[in-house]
Amino acid sequence: MAATTTGPAANEPVIVIGAGAAGLAAADALRGHGVSVVILEKEFRLAEPWRCRHEQLHLNTHRALSMLPGLSYPPRTPAFPNKGVIVDYLERFATERGLVVEFGTTVERIERKDGGWLVHTIEGVRRASQVIVATGRDRLPWIPDWDGIKSFQGRLIHAGEFGAAQAYAGKSVLVVGAGNSGFDVLNHLSGVDTKEIWLSARQGPSLLPKRVGSVAVHRFAGIMAQLPTSVVDTMISATQRLIFGDLTRHGLPPAPKGGASRLGAEQIAIAVDDGAVAALKAGRITVVAPVASFSGKSVRLSDGKVIEPDVVIAATGYRSGLETMVGDLGVLDGKGVSKANGGTPTGQPGLWFIGMRPSLTSYFHSAGIQARAIARQIAKAR
Ligand SMILES: Cc1cc2nc3c(=O)[nH]c(=O)nc-3n(C[C@H](O)[C@H](O)[C@H](O)COP(=O)(O)OP(=O)(O)OC[C@H]3O[C@@H](n4cnc5c(N)ncnc54)[C@H](O)[C@@H]3O)c2cc1C
Repeated sequence: MAATTTGPAANEPVIVIGAGAAGLAAADALRGHGVSVVILEKEFRLAEPWRCRHEQLHLNTHRALSMLPGLSYPPRTPAFPNKGVIVDYLERFATERGLVVEFGTTVERIERKDGGWLVHTIEGVRRASQVIVATGRDRLPWIPDWDGIKSFQGRLIHAGEFGAAQAYAGKSVLVVGAGNSGFDVLNHLSGVDTKEIWLSARQGPSLLPKRVGSVAVHRFAGIMAQLPTSVVDTMISATQRLIFGDLTRHGLPPAPKGGASRLGAEQIAIAVDDGAVAALKAGRITVVAPVASFSGKSVRLSDGKVIEPDVVIAATGYRSGLETMVGDLGVLDGKGVSKANGGTPTGQPGLWFIGMRPSLTSYFHSAGIQARAIARQIAKAR
């Protein structure tokens, strides 16, 4: 469709960029208000980010809280579904809701024009008065530009490239980062006969067990989400202390502030233990200082100690990669994350973001809430 220079028509379809959980939820909510939608997706099938994640990956969030609006998981789905279940779930959501996705359509840039938006794709330019960006918060793996990183002769990967845990048998592994992905990697490594595991932790995590006995701890997140942040901070740190004891005795630095506070203010998800703490207590994981530099086979730590890992796994987070798309619109913060999310106005009329914040319950649950908030406002404005 070619771009025109006339002003936007109110009945134009809303453009949703990205067909992940957030984009599908947004499209479905809009259709519920009778608003037509075009979904542009750069990949050639649904759920590509989930398909690319490692085979052992199970959700940290309970299935009952990891749903999009109105669609349950099939009977006998485990409490923490694996990534294959999520792929099937997203496909089923799109099919059952009749959501049509234009695959292979990468959006490169969004431009303000005549009070509406020009959406520049690799296929040409589309126009819309309302655009929802749902391209994912975890789009680009991010590794710090450590001194000497290019000279490293071992293997350096991002946690997103973890692959099969058994491939680390007999290897010495340095995991950098004690957050959510760092603990995911450590949980899997703890079941493997590695030569050595180091954990380089700048800050300690807020950490909850996946289960206590047979009880899935995340089950309580729905109740916690209703409580004041300070209360949830106390509940998380008390649970952590009660279940794990004092992890600083095993070298882990203390968390700089409460888990719910960090989630809200710094968007750092709460880490989940599923075997890593037992390995730490058994001396199979050694906590070391932050990474200072790389040189040849060596990694120098900030306390001067030098180690020689076969593999370094940077569990150092992700970036949204939104700068090229909307970087000139004043809608991103210093880390490239949208300042506004969900129904919160971005300061650019007709431009919305969804899925850009972690939540206590789950991304899926909160995508549904955000989708409804955006759809209500778009429908009201028509
Ligand atoms: C390892 C890992 C484990 C996680 N575990 C959990 C968990 O247990 N529970 C939980 O709730 N959340 C979890 N998350 C977070 C979250 O659920 C996922 O990141 C989820 O994929 C986010 O959905 P989304 O729709 O926002 O983004 P995505 O699933 O990333 O979807 C975005 C879509 O946009 C497309 N796209 C991107 N750029 C463009 C473009 N320029 N043009 C067109 N299309 C584009 C992508 O191809 C993709 O299909 C996890 C994340 C990671 C990385």
